[in-house]
Amino acid sequence: MFTEMDEGEDEDEATDVSELLEHLHDDMIDAIDRPFIDDTINLVEKYKVAYLSGYVARRLGAHLKCECCARRQTTTNPLPNHLYIQLREWDSSNRCLTYPTVALSNTVEEACNFFFRAVTPQLHRKALGKFAVDIMSLELSMSAAGVFCDNHVRDGMNFLAKGISRILIHR
Ligand SMILES: [Zn+2]
Repeated sequence: MFTEMDEGEDEDEATDVSELLEHLHDDMIDAIDRPFIDDTINLVEKYKVAYLSGYVARRLGAHLKCECCARRQTTTNPLPNHLYIQLREWDSSNRCLTYPTVALSNTVEEACNFFFRAVTPQLHRKALGKFAVDIMSLELSMSAAGVFCDNHVRDGMNFLAKGISRILIHR
């Protein structure tokens, strides 16, 4: 009788302690890690197009070396959707990152959506990269006018489509 009760009590006690530890552990993770990680993921998710567009703008600037195109692709005034880029600045008093215009962000978003819709179902295809760039350049020719000067519409659109395709094919 006693032995059974003791064993029973020990088991209950052991369960309580391990449960307590488990809860304590969860609470600690909730308090320290999860909100931070979740906030970061949400932030990246919400502002990732602008962040990606900033990267695209920087690459386009180095490739085209055109003031006229740069004015259509980058801005010096941070917009609300630039929040994640601003947080990634090393020194907030000395901005070094590239801030994309709304027009460029819209084109990049359109390019990504088009890729998922038209290229992703064809991932088995030979010469996928060239296929992606060709159909994407065609699809985006309308928005390209707002993002490139007359001299760089073709070259710029091709470069943008190649950049987006590379990122999304190899991700
Ligand atoms: Zn240009």
